[in-house]
Amino acid sequence: MKDSKIERIRKDMLTACIKLADLGFLAGVGGNLAVRIDSKLMAVTPSATDYYTMKPEDLCILEINGLKMVEGTKQPTTESGLHASFFSLRPEIEVSLHTHQPLASAVSLLGLDMDIASEEGKKNIGPFVRIVSYAPSGTPFLVRAFRSRIIKETNGYLLRNHGLICGAFTLDQTIANVKLVEKEAARFLRNRIEKNPNLSYMPNAVKDQLLSAL
Ligand SMILES: [Zn+2]
Repeated sequence: MKDSKIERIRKDMLTACIKLADLGFLAGVGGNLAVRIDSKLMAVTPSATDYYTMKPEDLCILEINGLKMVEGTKQPTTESGLHASFFSLRPEIEVSLHTHQPLASAVSLLGLDMDIASEEGKKNIGPFVRIVSYAPSGTPFLVRAFRSRIIKETNGYLLRNHGLICGAFTLDQTIANVKLVEKEAARFLRNRIEKNPNLSYMPNAVKDQLLSAL
């Protein structure tokens, strides 16, 4: 029974990765995906693999507690510890996605929590996306920093100077969430540019150009 569940999860993850790569959330810019199998196991994408040529068996099955690989031949993503933290501290989260999406990553440079304005975002993610202090990617320091910020009020976390990690209950919702965060990040940045008195010296033409890029 478990094997058929793992098989289905692997297939669904593959489809989701292609969708995310097509949307520009994974291709070329890295990022990785994890899905909970049960309370003990998770499936994660392998490190440094082209998502368009990835096969179901390339997905690695790991223990959430301790990250021991129980199935797979490739090296699991170096961010497996982040996904495992999400699954262990938030037992209701089923999917964890890490991206380097451009606008959310830009907001992560500010070192601030980002509010969420849309109703859909508030419902699926929470009233804000929470900042996690900087630590180098793939290290236990980043895992520790992330763990210390996980709360039940939000499913979205900005890894400072790095990117986004977002939890969800389904793969479809994960895709919707990262799209949503990117939109919210555009709004957040636009707001800060328009309302920032320190930018009053900036000629309007430059400001307009900056805003049109968001
Ligand atoms: Zn990363």
